[in-house]
Amino acid sequence: KHKNRLTAQAYIDGVLKGDRVILSRAITVIESHLESDKVLTKTIIQSILPNSGNSIRIGITGVPGVGKSTFIEAFGKHLINQGHKVAVLSIDPSSQRSKGSILGDKTRMEALSTLESVYIRPSASGDTLGGVANKTAESMLLCEAAGYDVILIETVGVGQSETAVHGMTDFFLLLMLAGAGDELQGIKKGIMEMADMLVINKADGDNIKKSEQARLQYQNTLHIFPPSESGWETVVTTASSTKNTGIDTVWNTILNYQALVNANGYFTKNRQRQNIRWMYDTINNELKQLFYGSEAITKELSILEKEVISSKISPLKAANHVIEMFKKRL
Ligand code: GDP
Repeated sequence: KHKNRLTAQAYIDGVLKGDRVILSRAITVIESHLESDKVLTKTIIQSILPNSGNSIRIGITGVPGVGKSTFIEAFGKHLINQGHKVAVLSIDPSSQRSKGSILGDKTRMEALSTLESVYIRPSASGDTLGGVANKTAESMLLCEAAGYDVILIETVGVGQSETAVHGMTDFFLLLMLAGAGDELQGIKKGIMEMADMLVINKADGDNIKKSEQARLQYQNTLHIFPPSESGWETVVTTASSTKNTGIDTVWNTILNYQALVNANGYFTKNRQRQNIRWMYDTINNELKQLFYGSEAITKELSILEKEVISSKISPLKAANHVIEMFKKRL
């Protein structure tokens, strides 16, 4: 399965040269579950690390149908016209994706994907959100090392992935619809609180007036939130991804944000904190994998499950038993 692997140096050189084909292959290595690829991943990441980080990382979320891919298409084109290189990565927590949806991913953002200065990677698949998120974060580093200076990380699913994306980006953008109601949009207060910007999409045609009303309404709602640590006040705007209006405002807002957080030190502080969290996430994931990846442990667990069900053993005692077993094997 991995006979097509290049040497670590070939991946590193290719990525640093901005070779998109090699970049894709390197990300495939990152996403692989093979033990040998994990070693290769560590070597590649370690080598490109000094060349990563030079980007603005933007998280984009919103319920399915809000227009994320259409927005990214319009926004991406705008960025390219400004001379940027744009990478689009996505996180999908419902990762047991069918072949069909991977194909679907390829046709999304079709016009963008043909452009030379754009790199689009469909979501990684994995068993846990944590695993998928870590792989996306590592892929992001590779994209940066390959010269992409704007990274867009989109959540394809709804739910927990917003927090994961927020945890690896500098700026968090929430796309919304006018008149749909917060509950209907699956928007929890916590997500709105994380957002640095709300964009009411589809503000075109008959929808313009409604969108403007929604904008004012959200602006008022945001006033009751506590001020954010970054010193930034969440901006609410309207846009039309199909008519290409308000897209420039989104980028200008992000530039304003960047200027503020560069000046007040929050940008660096936030990234440092994200790195610490990333370290612990990696430890937690690897520990889990070590534990549940052991055949002896899983065998014992299936026996213990039955014993817990029949009250032969207490849950606590059962847990301690396998933990002790694990410790002895270390
Ligand atoms: P996603 O599921 O969030 O990625 O949403 P899509 O980008 O696939 O868009 C869902 C639908 O909304 C598509 O039919 C788009 O053409 C439409 N759409 C997206 N943005 C706009 C917009 O700004 N205005 C209008 N009128 N339709 C839009």
